[in-house]
Amino acid sequence: MSAASIRLYVPGPLAAGAELALSEAQSHYLANVMRAGPGDTLRVFDGASGEWRASVAKVSRKAVVLTLTAQTRPQAPEPDAWLCFALLKRAKTDLVVEKATELGAAVIQPVITARTNADHVNLDRLRAIAIEAAEQCERLAVPEIRPPVALPKLIAHWPARPLFVADERRTSALLGPAAEPSALLIGPEGGFTEAELEAIARTPQVSRVSLGARILRAETAAIAGLALLLAAQP
Ligand code: SAM
Repeated sequence: MSAASIRLYVPGPLAAGAELALSEAQSHYLANVMRAGPGDTLRVFDGASGEWRASVAKVSRKAVVLTLTAQTRPQAPEPDAWLCFALLKRAKTDLVVEKATELGAAVIQPVITARTNADHVNLDRLRAIAIEAAEQCERLAVPEIRPPVALPKLIAHWPARPLFVADERRTSALLGPAAEPSALLIGPEGGFTEAELEAIARTPQVSRVSLGARILRAETAAIAGLALLLAAQP
């Protein structure tokens, strides 16, 4: 892969002529894995200043230094949709974070429910997965990955935002493209308990939705549900 096809998420702000020293990991990737050298160009973004073309100015043992040359894409608004999902085993949680990033989620909120089979995550790992997915899918921002929260606390402090709860056991309207802002809540592999569904139903702004006639695995439901929710978004 030539350096020109590389996109890196870097700390901003980004401006023409600015110099940027990459992190140790990014410097290693660029210099030693991609064998980039002075004059090679790539693209960088910081989530606020749009995307910029950058050229490798210096490669040293300490760091690769870039010079920003020109903005290639202005910062553009991204969908304001949150994905709240009951924590899954590590590999499936990683998959959900990667796919939710590609699909455009703005916030990814792991939730601890009565039947979740995990109660903690490595947030640094999930954030690194989200960054890599945003770089690959050419997003201009990286979703916020929040620390896991228990379901009662999530709904007790739910903001003024429509919350679509995926409920596979009740006949509800099929989830469709939502206006902004919105949120989708997906249960664990064992499903929500009745008590949880009743508590959720008492939360303002909540509506139960179906994701179709089949019972989807939780990770499939998170990915398919987000795709339905964001189907009308650019
Ligand atoms: N209670 C399910 C069962 O009896 O097999 C297990 C839960 S399902 C594997 C995991 C989660 O995916 C559910 O809590 C729900 O949020 C979502 N889900 C799966 N299929 C769905 C569907 N057809 N409609 C709405 N939500 C669905």
